Amino acid sequence: MEMYSGHINKLIEELAALPGIGGKSAQRLAFHLINMPEAKVKRLAQTIVDAKENVRYCKECYTLTDQDVCPVCANARRNHAQIMVVENSRDLAAYEKTGKYEGVYHVLHGAISPMLGVGPADIKLKELIARLEKDVEEVIIATNSSLEGETTAMYISKLIKPTGVKVTRIASGVPVGGDLEYIDEVTLLRALEGRIEL
Ligand code: ZN
Repeated sequence: MEMYSGHINKLIEELAALPGIGGKSAQRLAFHLINMPEAKVKRLAQTIVDAKENVRYCKECYTLTDQDVCPVCANARRNHAQIMVVENSRDLAAYEKTGKYEGVYHVLHGAISPMLGVGPADIKLKELIARLEKDVEEVIIATNSSLEGETTAMYISKLIKPTGVKVTRIASGVPVGGDLEYIDEVTLLRALEGRIEL
């Protein structure tokens, strides 16, 4: 990359470090940014900083939110005794989009992966267990059907079973290795309705 100036190289490097952006995309984005009007670039930069400074974890479910408690947890009409466990906020959004789930969520921010060195302590698991001290009737495990997702589901089920709380797993209508966020609403609902007790 010696053919570009130091500043452009730095920008390409930063962009390429983002997930899903390879070297070529990083170059394309970098040149696009350079060619944008300065005011627009400043607005984009400020938007990123603002998001970083103002977005935090919901105190209850650990999804990303602007408030102390997210809109789902703050909603008294939701069934707070039913907790759906998902890997990330995008999966939560996928289920929220169906408009049919009336319980609340718990966002793990990851999945257990011995291969990647992600252990139970690296995701929001003890936070989930702490929530069971309140009146919880059912924990629905909706982690992805990848190896990591299944490992996490097994782990959670073993952890919760002794507490007597009902543990269910969404049905395998969700394709193996499929990320929840890419699955259509009908499939998501079918997986939820067809959930089985672990
Ligand atoms: Zn919440």
